[in-house]
Amino acid sequence: MLDELKEECGVFGMSLVQPNEEIINNMYLGIFALQHRGQESCGIAYQNESIEVIKHSGLVAGKFFENLPRDVKASQAIGHVRYSTCGPSNLINAQPLVFSCNKGEIAVAHNGNIPNSEMLKSDLIQTGSIFQTSSDSEILVHLISRIPGKNFETSLVSALNQINGAYSMLLLHNNQLIALRDPYGFRPLCYGEIKGGIVFASETNALDIIGAKNIKEVEPGEIIFCHNGKIEKKHNMGSSKKAQCIFELIYFSRPDSKVFGETVHDFRLKIGACLAKKCQLKPDIVIPVPDSGNSAAMGFAREAAIPFDFGLIRNHYTGRTFIKPGQQKRVEGVRLKLNPVKTVINGKSIAVIDDSLVRGTTSSKIVEILKDAGAKEVHLFLSSPEIKYSCFFGIDTPTRKELISSKLKPEEIAAQIGADSVTFLTIEDLKISVENPGDYCYACFNCDYPFAINED
Ligand code: SF4
Repeated sequence: MLDELKEECGVFGMSLVQPNEEIINNMYLGIFALQHRGQESCGIAYQNESIEVIKHSGLVAGKFFENLPRDVKASQAIGHVRYSTCGPSNLINAQPLVFSCNKGEIAVAHNGNIPNSEMLKSDLIQTGSIFQTSSDSEILVHLISRIPGKNFETSLVSALNQINGAYSMLLLHNNQLIALRDPYGFRPLCYGEIKGGIVFASETNALDIIGAKNIKEVEPGEIIFCHNGKIEKKHNMGSSKKAQCIFELIYFSRPDSKVFGETVHDFRLKIGACLAKKCQLKPDIVIPVPDSGNSAAMGFAREAAIPFDFGLIRNHYTGRTFIKPGQQKRVEGVRLKLNPVKTVINGKSIAVIDDSLVRGTTSSKIVEILKDAGAKEVHLFLSSPEIKYSCFFGIDTPTRKELISSKLKPEEIAAQIGADSVTFLTIEDLKISVENPGDYCYACFNCDYPFAINED
């Protein structure tokens, strides 16, 4: 019973000039910095004589860290944190996935989603493929192995041409690290230089922790081949129209990251200011739903010249509310996760800033928590437009009929969740808050999918 959009996955990789005994520790730091992008499983694959992989169900810190091999010396490694949108959440689907085929060993770490995966998979099974996992990421390796000849690079490009979807990927093959991004560039992928090598990550915050410099994006449609700490070759699959996920900026990415050329915190300050311009009232205080609402709430408060405060405190140690089965347990999860500061709330008219409204059940609980804490009025401001359509590009969304904004107008939503008003950002607000508005996907708001989607 999903009531928030779920991040996808995070990838991190290193290619070093020489084998280094610090590589596993640095890989750990990299995927730890990306933990917000996936909490269900994690893994690291590294190239020795063969590709070795360590995987774990659960968080990066704790058992995974304790069991990491300390004596590994390797030059190339890739890592992954996972939230499953495709395939059940079990260890066999944890990434990196490692396969042995006629092109040799291949390890895959994938952030994204392949909407035509079911059709591709069914064709592959009909013609004899045996799948080891239920992850859509495995399809790429089957496609690579079907291309005649031994050349990995041409096989990879041919296989990618059969896939239509969202993929930012890191691969290991034959002591090479390969980084690639789909031609639309839905999911972010960046890289930077360190002493003695090159580092790739979903977000720049993971490059910062390793001290990487000269940070750049892997361009949409670009494939970068690295060997022993150097970029050996770049291939461009071409990109006619970018469709970078605007939700990476609104919600998924960390505010200290730079994604698609935008500093996430600065972007959220701007959309918070846009929301404040829509506010016809004069609330006593502005509070965020922490943590993802923090920057937008600050932008709102500055623009409206209304005091900012923390009226809700998030408990970071409760686990993920979405994994608790059943409505009742999930609602309890909101109470466990967010607790009010009564002295901040009591007797006040409150503008509360949240990032998005999915089903409405979490928002209704938040309004109840604030009113129970003595709020005089609760005005909910969402730093995204109304989500009316599902995402097929790597973000887990409920079906269209479950999305509250596909059924109700803002005033009807306010009545349903018990708020005094509900105000959404507009697509135009998003567009004026980024440098290149034409380079983004807004499909979950306007149904303008970058390519035809079979919604079944
Ligand atoms: S449909 Fe929405 S969530 Fe999915 S990629 Fe587009 S903007 Fe992002």
